[in-house]
Amino acid sequence: MDPVSPSTVRDLLQRHQFRIKKKLGQNFLIDGNIINKILNAAALNNHDIVVEIGPGIGALTCRLAQKARQVLAVEIDRTVFPLLAETLGELDNVTLVEADALKTDFDRLVQDAIGDPACGYKVVANLPYYITTPLIMHLLEECSYARKIVVMVQEEVARRLTALPNTKDYGALTVAANYYAKVEMAFKVPRTVFLPRPEVDSAVVSMTVRESPAVCVKSEKIYFALVRAAFQQRRKTLLNALTSLDRDFPRDKWLNVLRQAEIDPMRRGETLNLYEFARLADIYFQCRQ
Ligand code: SAM
Repeated sequence: MDPVSPSTVRDLLQRHQFRIKKKLGQNFLIDGNIINKILNAAALNNHDIVVEIGPGIGALTCRLAQKARQVLAVEIDRTVFPLLAETLGELDNVTLVEADALKTDFDRLVQDAIGDPACGYKVVANLPYYITTPLIMHLLEECSYARKIVVMVQEEVARRLTALPNTKDYGALTVAANYYAKVEMAFKVPRTVFLPRPEVDSAVVSMTVRESPAVCVKSEKIYFALVRAAFQQRRKTLLNALTSLDRDFPRDKWLNVLRQAEIDPMRRGETLNLYEFARLADIYFQCRQ
């Protein structure tokens, strides 16, 4: 059974007396064209191991399983499992895991299922929107073998992930995501292709994880602390934003760091690109030794 057409989905939900849980971000896809476009963005082949977060009633899962070698689908809501048993039918390359994706070690999951996570895996999902950002950061920071991440997110998050410096959407999330991955907006998705309809439009982003981060820094901890400080109060000049970062590092020392990094202290944090943040972080790291 292909649980994509609105009538099939409604019938399935009704027969199982399934109550949609808004708080779990349950907006099910009811448009086969959008699913095809997601599969194209993920460029799946029959060697691929795919991790899906939140299979729901299986609209995307079925199609992933037809294309990939193995699908590992992590779902927090056990009440969807009887529906999935029906929609996935005879497909024998799907492993359903009842777990919270935020607490799941995906490398370990692939290791346990396949034997060797080093071959890498792809993450393809229509994400639950209430945890989009922590999930993306969990995947980028903690999953060493995730090679490609293709996910449906709120359009506003997609804009933040792909923003350019000196725009209103550019922020700490942009810098962090682009540090770990090459991020592209794949396509936009209207709210009409979900049941129930969410309150926002969506977009699919494709993140190709870099073999090494976009910039090489002496301390990632300092790099990201500095990025956070720069964006915390966006209206402040960089000098003022940085001065509130470290009580033991006075203003004149920051002026010196900024001068060495050849960055105007009157600029705002939101105008710096990843390389400028790296230069700044490394000079600060050296000066506070
Ligand atoms: N993949 C399905 C589709 O495209 O129609 C459903 C996507 S729906 C937007 C998000 C799914 O994520 C729901 O099935 C929801 O129960 C599940 N979910 C929510 N929070 C989760 C979590 N922390 N871990 C795993 N799954 C979660």
